[in-house]
Amino acid sequence: MKIAVLPGDGIGTEIVAEAVKVLNSLDLKFEMEEAPVGGAAYDAHGHPLPDSTLKLAQQADAILFGAVGDWKYDKLDRPLRPEQAILGLRKHLGLFANFRPAICYEQLTHASSLKPELVAGLDILIIRELTGDIYFGQPRGRRVAPDGHFPGAEEAFDTMRYSRPEVERIARVAFEAARKRSKRLTSVDKANVLETFQLWKDVVTEVHKDYPDVALDHMYVDNAAMQLVKEPKRFDVVVTGNMFGDILSDEASMLTGSIGMLPSASLNDKKQGLYEPSHGSAPDIAGKGVANPLATILSAAMMLRFSLNKPEAADRIESAVKKVLAQGLRTPDIYSEGTTKVGTREMGEAVVKALG
Ligand code: NAD
Repeated sequence: MKIAVLPGDGIGTEIVAEAVKVLNSLDLKFEMEEAPVGGAAYDAHGHPLPDSTLKLAQQADAILFGAVGDWKYDKLDRPLRPEQAILGLRKHLGLFANFRPAICYEQLTHASSLKPELVAGLDILIIRELTGDIYFGQPRGRRVAPDGHFPGAEEAFDTMRYSRPEVERIARVAFEAARKRSKRLTSVDKANVLETFQLWKDVVTEVHKDYPDVALDHMYVDNAAMQLVKEPKRFDVVVTGNMFGDILSDEASMLTGSIGMLPSASLNDKKQGLYEPSHGSAPDIAGKGVANPLATILSAAMMLRFSLNKPEAADRIESAVKKVLAQGLRTPDIYSEGTTKVGTREMGEAVVKALG
């Protein structure tokens, strides 16, 4: 089992170190190799995704990724910015299916910005298509407007596009996932306005014929954004496109109290995957030893389940995380009165101890 370890920037190095500690405490043999990515790779090699890092990632069964980005790189040309490394990995590895669970742990119900009764027991899974849509569609660029409201003015444009096979494969992933849960799937679109999402809706409806045991409903993205804060427990599995998924999954993450708790997995059709916390590199707290490593540790658990076929080891990690929360240990982002504030390292070590 070969794991490429790409810590990246900011808190990435701190939180990945804890996840590696947890993995090394299991009775399993991994080959782990580390490489720079993002701003760290730009500093070392002049590119956010150097060939050597990409090659390592391609040869690995799974990638454990921290986070990339820092304001100091904001002035670089777009292709050299740290965030391009993630887009590059998604594209080169064909990581089209992004799984983002939003689980509200019993002990953290009060940390949510919503009333406890709205989020207690919340356990939803957002599946976001990751390699298409307006983030990758061509053409895109800046130019002098040939027409429109202000012909002759400077304008910028991007292209939203999805093909039938792209929608079909993510729909199948979502129906399969729903089948393993409560058999309810919500497909989120904007078919009332966008051609792209009318095709999306048509294809999802067609694929549904192969999954008659799953209840499917369609919802416009604006309504989905509203329902997520009004009645989040009405959802179980949600599938949507790249841009809507980007926004809705961050919204869902806040329901759970802290983005520091949320793992994610991005898979290709060979089950090779990139596992990373849902948050970014948090430059505001980097180097202070206070970042919550649990999202990354839980991402390592997803890696064991989805790419390395070790579901028992994944269960062990997830139970250990529940145990440390029950013990009252909290990093500052999830701290509340009556609990014990700990740093990144102490939290990682507590999870190792709780593995039993
Ligand atoms: P962010 O997720 O890094 O931080 C948002 C807020 O959440 C900050 O206040 C931060 O301190 C807090 N936070 C995030 N993770 C935390 C953790 N584990 N424990 C405690 N608190 C945590 O988002 P941002 O500030 O918008 O972006 C910072 C940088 O990260 C930018 O350069 C951005 O482009 C990049 N980014 C990278 C990824 C990625 O690597 N996948 C994702 C999002 C943003």
